[in-house]
Amino acid sequence: MQLANRVKTLTPSSTLAISAKAKELKQQGHDVIGLGVGEPDFNTPDYILESAKKAMDNGMTKYTPAGGIPELKQAIVRKCKDDNDLEYSTDQIIVTTGAKHALYTLFQVLLNEGDEVIVPAPYWVSYPEQIKLAGGQPVFLNAEEANDFKLTPEELENAITDKTKAVIINSPSNPTGMMYNKEELEKLGEICLKHNIVIVSDEIYEKLIYTNDEHVSIGALSNELKEQTILINGVSKSHAMTGWRIGYAAGPTYIIKAMSNLASHSTSNPTSIAQYAALAAYESKEDSEAMKQTFKERLDAMYELIVAIPGISCVKPKGAFYLFPNVEEAVAMNGFDNTDDWVTALLEEEKVALVPGSGFGSPNNVRLSYALSIDTLEEAAKRIKRFVTSHQ
Ligand code: PLP
Repeated sequence: MQLANRVKTLTPSSTLAISAKAKELKQQGHDVIGLGVGEPDFNTPDYILESAKKAMDNGMTKYTPAGGIPELKQAIVRKCKDDNDLEYSTDQIIVTTGAKHALYTLFQVLLNEGDEVIVPAPYWVSYPEQIKLAGGQPVFLNAEEANDFKLTPEELENAITDKTKAVIINSPSNPTGMMYNKEELEKLGEICLKHNIVIVSDEIYEKLIYTNDEHVSIGALSNELKEQTILINGVSKSHAMTGWRIGYAAGPTYIIKAMSNLASHSTSNPTSIAQYAALAAYESKEDSEAMKQTFKERLDAMYELIVAIPGISCVKPKGAFYLFPNVEEAVAMNGFDNTDDWVTALLEEEKVALVPGSGFGSPNNVRLSYALSIDTLEEAAKRIKRFVTSHQ
């Protein structure tokens, strides 16, 4: 049996791969600290669990409209207005099986064979694979660490060709935690409008910002930008609901309609009960302040511990729950040829799992998640330091 060409070069998600390896070692009885995870370590809040149970008891266990239940779309419309200053109607919203599937479906309806999508690096691992699966061509554009991993308007403009269809803006970013401010987004937006480039704005970490910086939705900056932007978001990170698989896309009606048509033949609908749970999340006035405060304390603690290790430097993130330190010097100092081998040896010797930056298009960095207790983070930093200093 022959596999289809389109999956022959498909690589498994490097973040999931390292988590699987760490789990395997754990099952063998090793005391592994997995810093590879991409999800909050908090439980989904009780009021959300209750609403899901109620939905089950009330028989909300049937197919729903492919693009989501009307009540949830309404709640998302309100959320976009209140939080993002963006006015959508319900036919401009599609509820999806996680933000990941919103992106997948979007690329499927947007891209023709050979269309280029600019992917600023470091990037979230699934963008390039999803673009390729839709017949598109990811064009990686290095966002310099010296510029806090932010793309400049000049860099963006220079990367545009007559095949460029879209650009991805992920702010706050996974893996770097960087954020664009309003002025920066205005300038990037100007270039996109000038060249008629679609903006895919992945705002999944919107609620996890630890500075006084304000999250800005690029689509809210003008009507023209709103028409040119598809906003992606969801409840996974904001409400500790990664396993529920509810995300959404908001954008021009004809795009959303095409996405809904495709969803009607692929997922049929996002899980009915999970949609009611997400509805409770968006209707509630409870916010994620406590979770955010805990993440902030961990970020501050872990950042200090990591930059104190010889050969490691780090741009301090503003959002999400990852550090993306540069380990180039440590890797060389420890006698390794590349970061991947260094990460493997660290896992084998010290049982600390990090994700190598190669999967994010940034081979001199590693990603570590601080969605773990402070004690665990301190122990992890201690082990990383012991590894680095013992290999000199
Ligand atoms: N976008 C980014 C940048 C992410 O980091 C993730 C999850 O890790 C997603 C999208 C997908 O989120 P979801 O769990 O809603 O599919």
